[in-house]
Amino acid sequence: MRKSPFYCWSILVSIANLIDPLLNAISIGPVVDPFLVPLPLPIDPFLVNFDRRFRRGRRISDAKPKNYSHRDQDNWAASFPACNLTQQSPISILSYGVETDPTLFIDFGPFYDIWLERAEMKNDGTTVEIEFMGGLTPVFSGSVVNNDLYRFHQMHFHWGSDDTVGSEHVIDGVQFPLELHMVHFNDKYTSLAQAASQPDGLSVLAILFKPSLVNNPFLDPLIYDLANVRCAYRRIDFNFRIILAQLLPVNTQLFFTYRGSLTTPPCFESVQWIIFRQLVPIGIAQLLQFRLLTSDAECRTLIGDNWRRVQPVNARVVRQPLLPVKGIW
Ligand SMILES: [Zn+2]
Repeated sequence: MRKSPFYCWSILVSIANLIDPLLNAISIGPVVDPFLVPLPLPIDPFLVNFDRRFRRGRRISDAKPKNYSHRDQDNWAASFPACNLTQQSPISILSYGVETDPTLFIDFGPFYDIWLERAEMKNDGTTVEIEFMGGLTPVFSGSVVNNDLYRFHQMHFHWGSDDTVGSEHVIDGVQFPLELHMVHFNDKYTSLAQAASQPDGLSVLAILFKPSLVNNPFLDPLIYDLANVRCAYRRIDFNFRIILAQLLPVNTQLFFTYRGSLTTPPCFESVQWIIFRQLVPIGIAQLLQFRLLTSDAECRTLIGDNWRRVQPVNARVVRQPLLPVKGIW
């Protein structure tokens, strides 16, 4: 008797059903270092999949090209004298030369853990910046900043044209492909502009990234929108798309801290730097998106390397709260 074709099909389906759980059991999936990946928090799919047509960057009407470029950083001091002072940033940090001070700590306020309410993403021709425009302000304090309160104002990135360069700070001779700066100003001043030239005016959290084969899901909304500000002087709303705490490493109590400066003109020496020792992963594909950003409105010239070379440490001391129990990198 001839078997119906459906009979063969049903046998195949039974075999597939039998094998499937076995395959699932032995499948290992992408390798993720659980220590480095922040705790998962679902990203609102509505926000991630927001219709691209509504997110096309609009031109910044008052945008002017920056009056400096990283290609001529050796000449910055001619126009911005502070760039030649003795407490400049970034620096190269050698971990064996760092002073340990167990009383140092950093304390994050509650709004670090919630969606950034009102924000704008813009390409200013030298970097991509996310500026806080209002709402519940993320703040931090702690003995590392003399227990003053520092308010989040903006964050931006420094990257290189390939994986061997990009970060501004160099740790034990290693330069990383991307460095994120979260810029805060002291609450005792009314604005970033007022604080920027004061000795205790600013504190910047620096996050160093290491390339990973898997994408970092917490960077996805940001990476997605880079395409909308690819040309310089574009700006888009960036409301409720990111939680700052998710961009920090898991362990925020391991850091280096020192007195330094803005790493771009006018190079004011007003920054208490806090550089986290633990690296945050970024997918190789995500990293590439930064390298597509351009420095002109016509989208012709890549921003390229927007990091400043390390500056002399001079008499400064780099401190850390504790020696890590084991190697971080
Ligand atoms: Zn910076």
